[in-house]
Amino acid sequence: MNGPFVIAVDGPAASGKGTIAARLGQAYGLPVLDTGLLYRAVGVMAQRAGQDASDEDACAAAAAVLRAEDLADPALRTREAGELASRVAVHPRVRAALLSFQQTFASQEQGSVLDGRDIGTVICPDAPAKLFVTATPEVRAERRWKQLQEQGEAVGYDDVLADIRIRDARDGGRDAAPMRPAPDAVLLDTSRMTIGEAADAARRIVEAARARWDRS
Ligand code: C5P
Repeated sequence: MNGPFVIAVDGPAASGKGTIAARLGQAYGLPVLDTGLLYRAVGVMAQRAGQDASDEDACAAAAAVLRAEDLADPALRTREAGELASRVAVHPRVRAALLSFQQTFASQEQGSVLDGRDIGTVICPDAPAKLFVTATPEVRAERRWKQLQEQGEAVGYDDVLADIRIRDARDGGRDAAPMRPAPDAVLLDTSRMTIGEAADAARRIVEAARARWDRS
């Protein structure tokens, strides 16, 4: 008996995974969870409570009281929130506190799409469809820089590129659930693709996974 059809979309910051996850959700009529928002919310909540992102106890306490409504806060979309998220995400007890929220979301009968860093490796290791979306740091920095400009954040491209490199090193180098492609994930390099091309390529990968899942 197959479990729900879960699509795991992992990859580094600004690789296109969020847009791809949203398009896959639309295409298959599945709910989508951007798991980066959970870590962003923990970082922002801890900061508002006057706590430092390095304080594991305080951050784990913030993670324990997180509610779905907290994820709609526009403050989670800022550059600072991304940096805070990556600092709180190194704590094993923060990750443990956010596990059941993510696994409950993934257990919905109709299926779901989750995007993050450790969905295919830790949160949903049995997901029938796994993608690891990448692009060069320069391409990702360009995309993130444009996005921040649109949001009205005045920041230079070089600073955004530096942020991306720091985050890649922290997310890939941490001990707790480091960012890695699952062994059975399909790699999708979007460096030379438009978002439409990347979404089409992702759709083809998921179609193949869906056909295997239907037969199993
Ligand atoms: O995807 P986004 O850029 O919003 O993620 C913010 C940060 O949250 C990442 O840099 C990473 O440190 C952390 N994160 C994580 N595991 C996830 C999703 C995000 O560690 N599943």
